[in-house]
Amino acid sequence: MRLRLTIAAILVGCSLLGRVVGGGYHAPPALADHNDFLPALPTAVIKTIQERGYGIYALDSRSDNYPSFSRTLEEVYANQCAETSICYRRALSGEAPDVIHTMPESWVAGMGIAGLAWYTSRPAIIEYNWRLGYASWRTTQGHEVGHIDGQHERYYDRNGQLLCITPIPPSRMSCGTGIWYVTPYDRDILWNIYVPDAPATLYLTDHGNGWATVNWGITRRSGNVGHYSNLNDNATRMSFAWAANLEATPAWVGWITDGFFSKYSDYYRGFDAFWKGCIYVRTENAAVWWVPQLSAPDYWTLVGCW
Ligand SMILES: [Zn+2]
Repeated sequence: MRLRLTIAAILVGCSLLGRVVGGGYHAPPALADHNDFLPALPTAVIKTIQERGYGIYALDSRSDNYPSFSRTLEEVYANQCAETSICYRRALSGEAPDVIHTMPESWVAGMGIAGLAWYTSRPAIIEYNWRLGYASWRTTQGHEVGHIDGQHERYYDRNGQLLCITPIPPSRMSCGTGIWYVTPYDRDILWNIYVPDAPATLYLTDHGNGWATVNWGITRRSGNVGHYSNLNDNATRMSFAWAANLEATPAWVGWITDGFFSKYSDYYRGFDAFWKGCIYVRTENAAVWWVPQLSAPDYWTLVGCW
């Protein structure tokens, strides 16, 4: 399992690191020696959310009973859901969660560390250092939830130092900033992990026998700009629309034929003569199907007409 640590917020973390934030202090630029994305993506939790459409979380009894902990966690998840369409709900009784928030009795990561995330397992585990006695855990929760969905650190960790900074652009992935919510930078990183794009290879073949096939490939039309990896890491299905001709507005085929999706990894779909006309596609997963895509700003991408 891979582990990410969070520095305790503001003066706790910074004073332990021997730095004093005084009047002449200038925050160093965001020059952390790491990338925007965590290694080993997409994780089992991310793949589950792409298939199901949302994630499921649970709390252990100590974190559930810690004053305001569950309420601020709800705020963190509600904010992420509103900003990105990557949503979680709390586990029902007896339901297996994708993420467990826990305040374990033992703590080995050091007193200056507020939280840590075991993000590659499913369920992923987020541990909180309850001995710090925070009145609110909201910034730690926001940071750790970012790790579970693939975000890397944004604090300063060069030259043997470890500092809370206000990164540029602002992000919940530094520390000591008070930012618990999804910033525009955070949203873009999450969408780069989660949102597919139109495929670079996409064509329609009329076989002349009353059938046509639509074929697509694994690479993005955008050339993977800003994306973590290839389409098989975040595309789970291909959705189709149909129109009688190029002038007509395409209608989602799912309105006509219930559940009309193909698995993205099938790379083709056959259509009989009922679908003569123009075929459009939308590369999707169940979580972010409505989110604007770089190479498909008009939502549907035309494959061809037959
Ligand atoms: Zn972290």
